Amino acid sequence: MSKNTTQIKAAVVREKGGPFYIETLTLEAPRRDEVLVRVVATGLCHTDMVARDKGYPVPQPIVLGHEGAGIVESVGADVVKVAPGDSVVLTFLTCGRCRPCRLGRMAHCEKTFPLSFGGARLDGSTATLDGHGEKVHDHFFGQSSFATYALANERNVVKVSGDVPLERLGPLGCGIQTGAGAVMNALNVRPGTSFASFGAGAVGCSAIMAARAVGATTIVAIDIVPSRLEMAKDLGATHAINSKQTNPVEAIRDITGGGVDYSLEASGDPRALHQAIEALGSLGTCGIVGAEPLGTEVSFDVNTLMIQGKGIRGILEGESVPDIFIPQLIELNAQGRFPFEKLTKFYSLDQINQAAQDSEKGGTIKPIIRLSPV
Ligand SMILES: [Zn+2]
Ligand SMILES: [Zn+2]
Repeated sequence: MSKNTTQIKAAVVREKGGPFYIETLTLEAPRRDEVLVRVVATGLCHTDMVARDKGYPVPQPIVLGHEGAGIVESVGADVVKVAPGDSVVLTFLTCGRCRPCRLGRMAHCEKTFPLSFGGARLDGSTATLDGHGEKVHDHFFGQSSFATYALANERNVVKVSGDVPLERLGPLGCGIQTGAGAVMNALNVRPGTSFASFGAGAVGCSAIMAARAVGATTIVAIDIVPSRLEMAKDLGATHAINSKQTNPVEAIRDITGGGVDYSLEASGDPRALHQAIEALGSLGTCGIVGAEPLGTEVSFDVNTLMIQGKGIRGILEGESVPDIFIPQLIELNAQGRFPFEKLTKFYSLDQINQAAQDSEKGGTIKPIIRLSPV
């Protein structure tokens, strides 16, 4: 091991569908704009499983993981935002140069796909070798944080207060800001209104907590897993609908007296998206955050949409500006108004396959993989 590299322990996916193999790898030192982070813990997100299963064309072998939190170990020569010893949450990486980025709407960065799923830097280079000296893809969401160390970019490290325990904060960088930001930034849910989340997983539950935090007074959770519906009620849902047993559109119309002001499709099921549009009342807006298979189409009644002034919009990463939004969520959490710790369960790196299985079966809403003690 030369002083320009770091030996790391990481979860590597080598074939479509998994499993994660725990391996010792070698990671390059940070480039001029990069930040080497000692990862404390990383959330496991649905998108990690999509990449493991090649639902998106992600190259393998690869180190996944995109909800990391940790301590800055070293920085490249051009980095000014953070210094060694700083506590950081890692988030999605954006280019900073395209039109959405220049508008401050970086969640819709035009380079999102290659930066998140390319398995390399934008110039095609990687920084990770396995025990045989073979290339392992990395830079997943600009971090690849299922590892004891991750190479992020200055743009996707969010500095947070050193007083806050880091190990639960990683999911703020993706799943939790996706749900909360959809409500607070994109849909801009108003006090006294009604909101329905189709899906009560990590994203849906985060949206429900946010809807309560901003003062929505009717909050409906729709899911097919009873334990998730219980969790949603605990987090602020005023109504819970099991869509296996009850037609959610009719139920929402009954509850709201005609239709809901805001609906969110957070399940990735095209039938749920159709229902989320149908359940809207006049002037209602449906936000889409659930990832569907590429090429999915969903129909809606054009005249109903037009006459009733309804809207449908796609939302990525909660349309957040992470440097601003993540500290806001941490403060809301500290005040007890955004208790996302209720969603989390910890696993060791060796238990990552179990964590994935528990999450897919619905028993664990947000698994967090511990990489190293603080
Ligand atoms: Zn961009
Ligand atoms: Zn994610």
